[in-house]
Amino acid sequence: MQSLIPNVPLPMSRAEMQEWWGWDELDILLVNGDAYVDHPSFGIALIGRSLVDAGFRTGIVAQPQCDDDFLVMGRPALFVGVSAGNIDSMLNHFTAARRPRRQDHYSPGGKAGLRPDRASIVYTNTVRKLLKGVPVVLGGVEASLRRLAHWDHWSNTFRRSILADSKADLLGFGMAEQQILEIAHRLRAGEAIKDLNDIRGTCWMANSREAIPDPWARGKVETPSFEEISTDTAKFAEGERVHFLEQDPQRGRVVVQPTGARFVVQNPPAPSLDETALDRIYGLPYTRREHPAYVAGVPALETVKATIVTHRGCVANCNFCSIVYHQGKEIQNRSVDSVVKEAERIATLPGFNGTISDVGGPSANMFRMKCGKMRKFGSCVHRDCLLPTPCPSLESGADENITALRRIRGIKGVKHVFIQSGIRYDLALRDGDAYIDEVARYHVSGIMKVAPESTDDRVLALMNKPSFDTFKKFKKRFQLASKKAGRRQFMTEYLIAGHPGSSLNTMVDTASALRDEDMQPDQVQEFIPIPMTISTAMYVSGLDPFTMQPIEVSRGDRERRMQKALIHSQKPDNRKLVIEALQKTGRMDLADKLLHGAVGSGNHLDDRAKRGGYVGPAYMAGGSLDQVIDEDEAKLDEHDGHFPEPGVENVQLACGTKVPKHLAEAAKKGGFNASWKGKKNTATIKPHQGRNPPRR
Ligand code: SF4
Repeated sequence: MQSLIPNVPLPMSRAEMQEWWGWDELDILLVNGDAYVDHPSFGIALIGRSLVDAGFRTGIVAQPQCDDDFLVMGRPALFVGVSAGNIDSMLNHFTAARRPRRQDHYSPGGKAGLRPDRASIVYTNTVRKLLKGVPVVLGGVEASLRRLAHWDHWSNTFRRSILADSKADLLGFGMAEQQILEIAHRLRAGEAIKDLNDIRGTCWMANSREAIPDPWARGKVETPSFEEISTDTAKFAEGERVHFLEQDPQRGRVVVQPTGARFVVQNPPAPSLDETALDRIYGLPYTRREHPAYVAGVPALETVKATIVTHRGCVANCNFCSIVYHQGKEIQNRSVDSVVKEAERIATLPGFNGTISDVGGPSANMFRMKCGKMRKFGSCVHRDCLLPTPCPSLESGADENITALRRIRGIKGVKHVFIQSGIRYDLALRDGDAYIDEVARYHVSGIMKVAPESTDDRVLALMNKPSFDTFKKFKKRFQLASKKAGRRQFMTEYLIAGHPGSSLNTMVDTASALRDEDMQPDQVQEFIPIPMTISTAMYVSGLDPFTMQPIEVSRGDRERRMQKALIHSQKPDNRKLVIEALQKTGRMDLADKLLHGAVGSGNHLDDRAKRGGYVGPAYMAGGSLDQVIDEDEAKLDEHDGHFPEPGVENVQLACGTKVPKHLAEAAKKGGFNASWKGKKNTATIKPHQGRNPPRR
């Protein structure tokens, strides 16, 4: 279906319906929590453009503020599709510590507060009230990842499937173009929404077990009920495992979850899209801009404006990530020609500055990768595709990936082509030197971003990530490739703090390892137990859902903040939390290293005293946190290097002060005496006679 005027977005008003598209009514109304940006990185644009391409008159109500906004284009003939937007509305509104975010990158001008909390439920209720009798289909990330009972970090409770809470008729999970088109075609053919319970990639509510069909003859599997899950976290872990194992389009069975007197039913996932289907979706005539109704720009567009999505899916299965539940494990590739064509189009757009800022997907180097067995039989249950080492059946896509990058670099007007998507480094190492060399020579904008996520192999195993050694090998390989290319460029790492299995002690070791490796992570993300990840099941239950073995979990907000602060321990803002963490774990010996980046014996006092640096009495005495910080901050930087203060022969500590032995020993090594008597005696620390520490 073509618009009357070229290069216009889908309509957001009755005038646009008529003047741009020549429609008097809509077939489908899409209600969305984000501003409408007509770009293939935005879910609502993919769904809306696919529907119009298939001949359905589709309009978009974005971020409605009142009832009238829902009715601006009238009652649609077939159904209303509701989505909270590109990300979960609660994640969009609140930080990991549940503090409101000041900005919403998916709203014009970054303005916060233009969508309600739990937007899918609120919008569905409003549509039900205003457009009685019109079927409502839920979609988008929020609905997709809340399709079964889940943990809601923001209310600290378990919640039922969003289908039960919203009372929508159907829920399309995953990217959902296929499901939404099938629903539209069948409703247009006269079927009733209540009969559409056999569409793959959808969830629906059944009144009895007997009413649940299995037209795919794969069998059904039942998870613990919502009521069991919400009263027994072990049942939650069990349910998450059962559900996780059914995410494969080739072999996934019908999943049933009793909820109250009814049953939430998840049909098998939609089939993976082939190259032709994906090329068609990404080749639709997106304007790649915000809808012209917006005066202010939408910040989220700026980061993706000149980017190209090459594929969907990820074989990696990282436990903290929900991509497998949304896009599946199998890599669904676009053709190289289609990717290059999109780059050619970007190069002709007004305002293009010569830089394609990303060519990638969930992992950039999985483009054009294939596994014949996965396509035919589904992903293996007896082994992981990448761990402990990448599976030999996984065919590398590196050559075609390089071809695509070279062709894009050759397009007139393209000066730079960067890769911002993550690179799965164990796969990159396996796939030989050519890809890393190509990336290092041409596709890094000075700093390569990589996500080792942790330095601790035990935590990495719980995340289902490769070992830290594998990361170090990749880093070396990248440095070598950069040197060969004559390019001075760096690597910056992304890490997660507070993942299940990561205690305060683990994070202190991680912080220390980062200094040893001279790593300065760019971003530290505090682990957020978002709905529908294996890591969230670990966090909530304290169990590994696959082995049901206990896992150490940090749940207190303060401890989680300390973990995060340790990664950026040299930032002045983190100082208090870092010292608190070191005191708690009895690792003040690392204070100098972590706070000031010194690399030496690892003993703060020892190192500092040997250098003649200032070691304050409160520090020496293991004083209270506030004393230590006040003293340290006030005196450390401007001090001339003597301990004690010039002219002071010794430091008299208050009676009863406990001097930690390791600090006293360190002081002695540095040329000081520390002595104390009895259990509660005065401690005195004074320089050895004739051995004043050298000046710095
Ligand atoms: S054969 Fe290998 S790559 Fe393919 S699904 Fe099985 S483990 Fe994964």
